[in-house]
Amino acid sequence: MNHAGEDPEVVKTEDEWRRELGEERYSVLREAATERPFTGTLLRVTESGTYLCGACGAALFDASAKFESHCGWPSFTHPEQQKNVRLVDDDTLGMHRVEVRCKRCDSHLGHVFDDGPAPRNTRYCINSLALTFAPKEL
Ligand SMILES: [Zn+2]
Repeated sequence: MNHAGEDPEVVKTEDEWRRELGEERYSVLREAATERPFTGTLLRVTESGTYLCGACGAALFDASAKFESHCGWPSFTHPEQQKNVRLVDDDTLGMHRVEVRCKRCDSHLGHVFDDGPAPRNTRYCINSLALTFAPKEL
């Protein structure tokens, strides 16, 4: 599945991931489940800080890129660094979507859509369960 040179840096067995993450996070991060909308604990967080991968801790999104999309999941205009995420075509559920994964550990984060605010027009729709929030130290 991974192309040459794109192998994840953090590799664990699915058993190890399951033990570390617990069932709820495991089902999202490793089995690409989607949490129920409007249930995520990070949905309404507006503080400054960084959103990290819930599996490996890679820095993925800055709080300044977060916006209220009313879709029910934390939404970002763009990743902190494009190279920290990997986009994969997803044709499950009878539709074409683009899946967002953590580049470092290849865990599922959510999907990216092209209906975000200008000028980028991208909306990274990310499961709250796939993220950990690190508030900015004051
Ligand atoms: Zn990761």
